[in-house]
Amino acid sequence: MDKKVLIADQINEKGIDELKDIAEVVANFTISKEELLNVIKDFDAIIVRSRTKVTREVIEASKKLKIIARAGVGVDNVDVQAATERGVMVINAPESTSITVAEHTMGLILALSRKIAIADSSVKSGKWEKGRFMGIELNGKTLGVIGMGRIGSQVVTRSKAFGMQTLVYDPYITEKSASELGVTVVDLETLIKNSDVMTIHVPLTPETKYLIAKPQFDMMKENAFIINCARGGIINENDLYEALSKGKIRGAGLDVFENEPPEGSALFELDNVVLTPHIAASTSEAQRDAAIIVANEIKKVFKGQSPKNVINMPVLDPETFNTIKPYFELIEKLGKFLIQTAKGNINELNVTYCGDLSEFPKHDILTRMMLQEILNPILTEPVNLVNATTIAENRGIIVTEGKRCDAKGYKSLINVVMKSDETDVSVEGIFVKQPKIIMINGYSVDVETEGTMVICKYRDKPGIIGSIGTKIGEHDINIAKMQVGRKELGGEAVMVLKVDQHVPESIILEIKKLIDVHDAVAVNL
Ligand code: NAD
Repeated sequence: MDKKVLIADQINEKGIDELKDIAEVVANFTISKEELLNVIKDFDAIIVRSRTKVTREVIEASKKLKIIARAGVGVDNVDVQAATERGVMVINAPESTSITVAEHTMGLILALSRKIAIADSSVKSGKWEKGRFMGIELNGKTLGVIGMGRIGSQVVTRSKAFGMQTLVYDPYITEKSASELGVTVVDLETLIKNSDVMTIHVPLTPETKYLIAKPQFDMMKENAFIINCARGGIINENDLYEALSKGKIRGAGLDVFENEPPEGSALFELDNVVLTPHIAASTSEAQRDAAIIVANEIKKVFKGQSPKNVINMPVLDPETFNTIKPYFELIEKLGKFLIQTAKGNINELNVTYCGDLSEFPKHDILTRMMLQEILNPILTEPVNLVNATTIAENRGIIVTEGKRCDAKGYKSLINVVMKSDETDVSVEGIFVKQPKIIMINGYSVDVETEGTMVICKYRDKPGIIGSIGTKIGEHDINIAKMQVGRKELGGEAVMVLKVDQHVPESIILEIKKLIDVHDAVAVNL
């Protein structure tokens, strides 16, 4: 087995077993920083949980590292920027904890509605206060779910078993997924005003920081509960304390806090809160699943397949992948064409996706593929889909993507303009059974993207085509096909000669010296 995987933190055995048939697995759960720096050069992949820090130093000490896998969700212990610059994929297992966190959310809801935590401490203190812990049923109540991603959807499914109605606020979900789950999507204010229980499942972003603060608590139903198993900072804890202590809302269940641990929090004084120490994701099943998920992702990468959870690279679902697969070949050919025809330092790359392709949401991956083709031949460092954009940026290349509905009658078309300090090259390609180039520098052509071709710019006048053909023939090179593109009679024209063998630079130089030939280049696709 030529692949080696280092498991640097303790993960579930099942994850380790998954890898054994494809790689040599070294498990060292107590590896020190120094040891890691010494051995990382031998490994193709490393799996960590949160103990091992995969720093820039570690990444730079690696030689063949392809994957850093976090058997869990957060990647705070991995220098993702350094990994991206070195073309190393960072993968995680975000779905491994969804059910676990959803169950914890339900646990907090039940603990609040039936006062379980406080009743438990009362009984343990020797009391029997049956009258003190009157609860409420969840049946028939409205649950407001803020964020209907992986966890939010699992909470919705479970809440239905309790006979709850659901309102969802998530500006980014599609109508299709909302209707599949049978939820009513509303704006945040409607959700807040109508929910008996509100639960938060969004990431912490500038947009969601203090999403729930005084104005929102003021809008909530007086006997509503709020749950946060997402991230501290989405709820303003000072405002929550005020709302709870003034009886504006009935209770709160928190697994996450603005500061963790929330030392000396005023919330500790209150009976109507249930607090857990960021354990919503902590179950043995979630840990087992995380290990299995990342092990399978690593296997996929080793087999040349596309992994699902890459943090520093766009990934495609299988359906989208199959739809746009033909264009991967076209993009590759256009990239190869551009780098062989351009001269000088590249300054700009503008890629426009036309027709059906303009509807495709993740152009980024196609543009990265093109950058990979353009940059790999000119750089010593390997360029891949992970680092292509970063390398282009670091080299000062301005990369822009555009969309156009019009595809000149084709289903889809890709137009690329690459500007360097010496040349501006534009090319347009389509995929109809095979990739084809249909425009070069504004001249219409119809060129199969295969084999070797000689592209000449010349003045359109009688005899030039013959003289170029003769020159190539003199060197025993057979011309298989010829294409001419011109804009006006007697103006500049472009000739594409498909030839049967490699054309050395010395012959190109001879062609360039012919009268009225302005430029010539050999391109191998
Ligand atoms: P996800 O990416 O699958 O879903 C997040 C959802 O939030 C998406 O549907 C997105 O459209 C929506 N969203 C984003 N911004 C929004 C906004 N401004 N308003 C409304 N909706 C918005 O994520 P997930 O895996 O479901 O995780 C949800 C949260 O749970 C994250 O904050 C994650 O960090 C947290 N989490 C906590 C624990 C824990 O131990 N407590 C464990 C795992 C995940």
